[in-house]
Amino acid sequence: MTTYLCNACGTAYPDSDNPPEACKICDDERQYVPSSGQSWTEQNSLNKRHRNAWRLMEPGLFCLQTVPAFAINQRAFLITTPAGNILWDCIALLDNSTREIIHSLGGLKAIAISHPHYYTTMQDWAKEFDCPVYLHESDKEWIVRPDSKLHLWQGREMELFPGCKLICLGGHFAGGTVMLWSDDGDKKGVILAGDIVQITPGAHHVSFMWSYPNMLPLPIRQVKDLNERIQPYCFEKIYGAFEGQDVLNNGKKIISESAGRYMQLLNGGD
Ligand SMILES: [Zn+2]
Ligand SMILES: [Zn+2]
Repeated sequence: MTTYLCNACGTAYPDSDNPPEACKICDDERQYVPSSGQSWTEQNSLNKRHRNAWRLMEPGLFCLQTVPAFAINQRAFLITTPAGNILWDCIALLDNSTREIIHSLGGLKAIAISHPHYYTTMQDWAKEFDCPVYLHESDKEWIVRPDSKLHLWQGREMELFPGCKLICLGGHFAGGTVMLWSDDGDKKGVILAGDIVQITPGAHHVSFMWSYPNMLPLPIRQVKDLNERIQPYCFEKIYGAFEGQDVLNNGKKIISESAGRYMQLLNGGD
């Protein structure tokens, strides 16, 4: 029996003798099946060709990303808090170095994930570090490998630990979630955004899409709702899912101005 991982999105499927017929995540319009067709890998062969690169973004916040790039190529974040460490978003490769580093940092108390594109091998991480994974209940239909460590949460917000809050913004996925880390070094507040809020090149603007690969926008009412849901919170920085997506100042104002411009254009204005 093998745990097959989709090459295009990194999602792990339940153990089987043969690869699954298709990847539910990639068959959805918000992802894609490559023109070369659906293909599969497994953790051992991934380990031979890739490793995870670590970067300290600021005190208490590490970023980890697989190199060379694999699947969607998102980054995950590890926040160290007095209540324990949290992994924000997940990546498919769990290599020995990553295991050692995280155990030496005190392990994980929780994993929280923004949306199904980054579910990847979350069950393996949860098993290794014996911790729960928090997913928004609205996206439960996208869980393709059930596990007792997966905890579904409901509603608009949930405090994970003091200073760490999950906020459901919807948009790209109904349960699209960001994390607010209020206990950062300068106490100004950091949003870990996944691609629920997508930081654009230059890191001066953000955008919001229903499908990024197929370039399908969100309806105006959802952009309005997303912006209204995030504005009450206090934050300055935003770290997105991909390399270089680091807004270091004025994050809240950038979201509100970008949402305004988006709605203006969809309304036919220029
Ligand atoms: Zn896939
Ligand atoms: Zn996505």
